[in-house]
Amino acid sequence: MSEAYTSVADEDVDAGPAPIVAVVGRPNVGKSTLVNRIIGRRQAVVEDVPGVTRDRVPYDAQWNGRRFTVVDTGGWEPDARDRAAAIAAQAEIAVQTADVVVFVVDVSVGATDVDEAAVKMLRRSHKPVILVANKADNQNLELEAVSLWSLGLGEPHTISALHGRGSGDLLDDILAALPEPPPIVEDGPRGPRRVALVGRPNVGKSSLLNRVSKEERAVVDSVAGTTVDPVDSLVTMDGELWQFVDTAGLRKRVNQASGTEYYASLRTAGAVEAAEVAVVLLDSAEVISEQDQRVLTQVVEAGRALVIAFNKWDLVDEDRRIHLEKEIERELKRIPWAIRVNISAKTGRAVDKLAPALRRALASWEERVPTGALNTWLTALTQATPHPVRGGRAPRILFATQAGVAPPRFVLFTTGPLDAGYLRFIERKLREEFGFEGSPIEVSVKPRK
Ligand code: GDP
Ligand code: GDP
Repeated sequence: MSEAYTSVADEDVDAGPAPIVAVVGRPNVGKSTLVNRIIGRRQAVVEDVPGVTRDRVPYDAQWNGRRFTVVDTGGWEPDARDRAAAIAAQAEIAVQTADVVVFVVDVSVGATDVDEAAVKMLRRSHKPVILVANKADNQNLELEAVSLWSLGLGEPHTISALHGRGSGDLLDDILAALPEPPPIVEDGPRGPRRVALVGRPNVGKSSLLNRVSKEERAVVDSVAGTTVDPVDSLVTMDGELWQFVDTAGLRKRVNQASGTEYYASLRTAGAVEAAEVAVVLLDSAEVISEQDQRVLTQVVEAGRALVIAFNKWDLVDEDRRIHLEKEIERELKRIPWAIRVNISAKTGRAVDKLAPALRRALASWEERVPTGALNTWLTALTQATPHPVRGGRAPRILFATQAGVAPPRFVLFTTGPLDAGYLRFIERKLREEFGFEGSPIEVSVKPRK
């Protein structure tokens, strides 16, 4: 048997977006077979029919602890009348999406005109290209690979995707060509989660901070190894330590009308920036104001997880509750995903709900959807509800990847720009399927040009 191969990445081994490796080449050179090798399971469809159209699908892969996404571009819009055009389209996709292009040639056939046309286009892309001489099942065929130097892509990597020969070395070289991985975050004890306590003046921020930190001030000095800014407050809630950022001003200002709105919004911006999750306090007894909306916008635009605490719930009677529900529906329509808790800093009501709400929001904020699940879902969705036709054409979504977390960011690779309405539809459905309660998400579009 041959070398040990890759296993599928079930868990993230490093942070940050997974780099994309595109496998391109003429139909039937063995691209799917190679992708199967790389992902270590028989998942990609292998068709014996030359030029057969396959869905171009991304797969999660992992080699030597490095996570990446492999895109099998096989059968990409093949045009039987003009194969070269089909390859051109593949190369274009590679330009758009890949960090590294693996260009596969069938060594038993040698370099064809189509291969050479593809090389020109690949070279224009200025992406790293790794030349693979596939079907080098034996030593004779391996020698044939020498002729592929003429393509000008450097040394051909001779492999047999079918039998596994050479694919370990190939993967080492693919990894070496990938962009530098993001610095690995030390796996030691992470500091406490950072929380911003924000809201317009007089909603009860200082009261809430006093309430949650009442019995807990002693703990601050005894936390070894945590670097806590003197303007922050360490507070234990629900058995866990939390770092409320930039609270110095709050503590002093109890019951005191607080400066200009300009100052308040600066403090909000600073605290939100320094935090992972924000608790936006609203005064339940008063209508949701423009100033409240601005604070919410600051949090959403900063991409932080969000918990809305309706404070002064002790003042809410039946009448106000009914009004408030309508207000929420109207005023918070753009952020239906925010987690809400109804609390009273004064009486302590439901303040214990805060920590679980923060945890839920942070979990969503850091959620990663596996590429396979994402695309299975997306394929079904776009088949059921395709993009509306515009001027006789409808852009198609080729595939999606999650480019990052905190907050979750998705990139849709498409054949053209999407309607804003359709994009919102995708976003809404993405939430319906995967949740993200308490976290903003970003969906961006990369049209192929
Ligand atoms: P694609 O169209 O480029 O994705 O090619 P496929 O992966 O579908 O492979 C086309 C044909 O070549 C299939 O019959 C594969 O079994 C065969 N094939 C792929 N790799 C090898 C190889 O390394 N050696 C041999 N002998 N056949 C291979
Ligand atoms: P901040 O400006 O946001 O820090 O608000 P404060 O904590 O200074 O509170 C403003 C006013 O609201 C004070 O008079 C508090 O006593 C009052 N307050 C705060 N929380 C509550 C609450 O849950 N219920 C009621 N009834 N009053 C509250």
